Amino acid sequence: MKIKFLGGADVVGRMGIFLRHRDANLLLEYGMRPSKPPQYPMPSPPVDYAFLSHCHLDHSGMVPWLCKRYDTEIVATSSTMAITRVLLEDALKVADSEGYPRPFENTDIKMALRNFTTMEFGETVDVAGFEVEMHSAGHIPGAAMYELRGDDVTLFTGDINTRNTQLVWGAHPVKCDNLIIEATYAGRTHPNRTKTEKRFLEKIEEVVHRGGKAIIPCFAVGRTQEVMLILKNEKYDMWVDGMGRTITRLYLDQPEYLRSEKNLRIAKSRFKEVRTPAGRERAKKGEVIVTTGGMLDGGPVMEYLKDLKDDRKSAILLTGYQVEGSNGRQLIETGMIDIYGVKEKIKCEVEAFDLSAHSDHNELIAFIRACSPRNVVLCHSENREILAKELEGEFNVYLPKPGEEFELG
Ligand SMILES: [Zn+2]
Ligand SMILES: [Zn+2]
Repeated sequence: MKIKFLGGADVVGRMGIFLRHRDANLLLEYGMRPSKPPQYPMPSPPVDYAFLSHCHLDHSGMVPWLCKRYDTEIVATSSTMAITRVLLEDALKVADSEGYPRPFENTDIKMALRNFTTMEFGETVDVAGFEVEMHSAGHIPGAAMYELRGDDVTLFTGDINTRNTQLVWGAHPVKCDNLIIEATYAGRTHPNRTKTEKRFLEKIEEVVHRGGKAIIPCFAVGRTQEVMLILKNEKYDMWVDGMGRTITRLYLDQPEYLRSEKNLRIAKSRFKEVRTPAGRERAKKGEVIVTTGGMLDGGPVMEYLKDLKDDRKSAILLTGYQVEGSNGRQLIETGMIDIYGVKEKIKCEVEAFDLSAHSDHNELIAFIRACSPRNVVLCHSENREILAKELEGEFNVYLPKPGEEFELG
């Protein structure tokens, strides 16, 4: 089996892994990096099938481009399909509003959706001389790992989380010969999750008690729902704003991917939804506001920041990784933030909580050992060398560069 990374080898984002097996061409993921400007993977050669691990744009964002050119068949869970659609349509709106060229059109999204074949965990399909089985990746609901059984067994993890979260159960290892695994958190460890959730709830109580508002910027897919679940037993005046509302509904439409449908329904019922500008004004008078975007690079969160940035009683509680160059990272490092093009000093409290949906360094190592592969390919990471060092001697470790073709197995 020949492999070539078209993107996402040594960076987080714009994934694309081209596979050649018995004269068939396959692709694992085809994404984009929704940065400013957006970054794209190398153009893919013609492929018959593409397997998508999950809906996040860094894995799915260029699927319409692929289907338009090659009429590629896309394999994914039905949850991935439903949410990918929402994210692709939003990506075009963002491109238009930021003035970037569109990589594809709305009609291409519609066409691409017709090319999806959905599969569920535990199901298998015969493709290109492989028997392919899908497993849960534990990253977000509907996120999949693919086990490709041919002469060798190859496991591709997509983004994985091995520990249980409120939203989804953690991933289990799969015995394989070749393991292609993400290493986002190489070299970093997460603090104890239970303690982090406790500290998060205590901070919210402190902010509300002193008369402030807790603004909780969240990614729409996964994090918004995870935070709502953490808050489901609280009695505050709680609001949810942004695309996360739509995603919650889509998750509840397909409850088989959730750890607990009941809990997500309870969580949803505890929050009031912002649907209009007037609703947003009411939300600003509330106590807890969960809103997109997670890295403060746009979305309704800006409306809340504009009004509450000087209120020392209020707090911005970040819940996700703040990528280099993002507004959120700037806030953590300098206390400054760009609000509609103007750099402003933030006077309200700022605190970050690690509610990550990725396995950390030690969890990755434990997972890799439990899969007992011969070959380990590390990708989707800026620090994968740190992990490689620890694995060397035990496994054949590959750190492929984008564009470099190599033989695996
Ligand atoms: Zn992801
Ligand atoms: Zn990812």
